[in-house]
Amino acid sequence: MNQVSDFTAALARALPESAFRLSADDRRPFETDWRGLFNNASAAILLPGSTDETAQMLKLCNEHGIAVVPQGGNTGLVGGAVPIENSGAQAILSLRRMRAIRNVDPLNNTMEIEAGVILQAAQQAAEAADRLLPLSLAAEGSCQVGGTIATNAGGIQVLAYGSMRNLVLGLEVVLPDGQVWNGLRSLRKDNTGIDLKQIFIGSEGILGVITAATLRLVPRPRKSLTALAAISDPHQALALLRATQENFGSELTSCEYFGAAGLELVSRHLPGAVSPFANSHPAFVLLEVSSLDADADLAARIEPVFERLVTDGTLQDVVIAQNETQRQRLWALREALSEGERAAGGAIKHDIAVPIFAIPDVLHSIESGLPEIAPGARPNIFGHLGDGNLHVNIMPPEGRAIDLLLARATEITSFIEGVVVAAGGTFSAEHGIGQLRLKSLKQHRSSLELELMRAIKGVLDPKWMMNPGKVLNQGS
Ligand SMILES: Cc1cc2nc3c(=O)[nH]c(=O)nc-3n(C[C@H](O)[C@H](O)[C@H](O)COP(=O)(O)OP(=O)(O)OC[C@H]3O[C@@H](n4cnc5c(N)ncnc54)[C@H](O)[C@@H]3O)c2cc1C
Repeated sequence: MNQVSDFTAALARALPESAFRLSADDRRPFETDWRGLFNNASAAILLPGSTDETAQMLKLCNEHGIAVVPQGGNTGLVGGAVPIENSGAQAILSLRRMRAIRNVDPLNNTMEIEAGVILQAAQQAAEAADRLLPLSLAAEGSCQVGGTIATNAGGIQVLAYGSMRNLVLGLEVVLPDGQVWNGLRSLRKDNTGIDLKQIFIGSEGILGVITAATLRLVPRPRKSLTALAAISDPHQALALLRATQENFGSELTSCEYFGAAGLELVSRHLPGAVSPFANSHPAFVLLEVSSLDADADLAARIEPVFERLVTDGTLQDVVIAQNETQRQRLWALREALSEGERAAGGAIKHDIAVPIFAIPDVLHSIESGLPEIAPGARPNIFGHLGDGNLHVNIMPPEGRAIDLLLARATEITSFIEGVVVAAGGTFSAEHGIGQLRLKSLKQHRSSLELELMRAIKGVLDPKWMMNPGKVLNQGS
């Protein structure tokens, strides 16, 4: 028997039929990433229903030399959750059957939850206990809690609550050899040696499989106000951010940016999506402020700020949502940006962050330098302005297919990364490295940093069997 058939025979002996899929038809839907960039065959789909089954599977994979690719909701944008080419036999381990919400504790403000729970379901469980799980992103209807931990996801409320790392109090992880580490503590203070959970948060499945987590919850805001401002350049966006931050502090829960190109994509893609403004504008900032006080008059507090900014020419125009339907319509313009871009044929994507003051200069350098490298290419820039994190996505000239740009992708990316790194920024703010950004990591991190990362990987996964070809390569 060969290695794979040996493995699948052992799998069938040890585990129930519901715990794996072997046929090509069953495997196919798991093998392609959300963007459709990567598609490589797997040896099996593993579907553990419990931590014990996950441990059994990892032990079997380890014994048979089968690499393991952990997969959550498969919404990652860097190809981390699907196999790479030419790396021997790889099994995709999907957490989709591990969906238990073990408990929600409104006094301790925590929830213990299995990794396969869809983020939106976790938010709803917190809400049922009158609490907020403050992680929100456009993929929340599909991505899983485990995936958001493994990628240290950010999203639209990082400004007020931090990224996923700030919300994780404890983890349960199955190590590559099948040992289970139970670190499911629900403590806010615990200085007992190296904080091991931090190593797994953001590790993109290369160190082990996260099977459960204890998450921090917060009180639910009782009032919120959402507004969309039209601006003519990024300096004005920063002036608006500064003014609202000075007046609202941590009550400013979202500050998102998008340009006219993004608005047009969304209008084409999303039925009923229209700009609330009579005139066209170069760019927009979507703001949300929230209060724990049910009687707070947020409009009375924000209107004078907007009036001043309109009068001094910082804002071209501004609308405030008057009810929940209007609020959702404004948010839909922001949240459909990735989908709209995908529907229009895709883009060369970048997920940058720079110190906030540097945003106008960085965007100017990118927009003025791009035509030389890719004539006619259209930047679609949007993202989390309040975190200095923007998605600088480059679309082909109008009417042309993305293939035209793919030939220049390396050049475009290295130009954008060069500008960003020179400004003290990062080439990957929230999407991670996956299989897409390995070269960039190697280029922009020091050899000491890479050596330390490889050393940690080598200790936890000495055979380098977890998610091969993602984040780091063994020898280089
Ligand atoms: C429309 C859209 C909008 C998005 N917006 C944002 C955003 O605002 N902010 C943001 O940060 N991201 C965003 N993303 C990216 C993506 O949604 C996040 O990275 C998300 O956290 C991935 O979760 P997932 O469950 O889909 O993980 P997957 O895509 O399945 O996996 C991602 C990585 O984590 C590993 N992994 C998954 N589950 C586990 C586990 N249980 N144990 C160990 N490793 C695991 C995988 O191997 C892979 O390397 C967006 C994506 C889309 C499609």
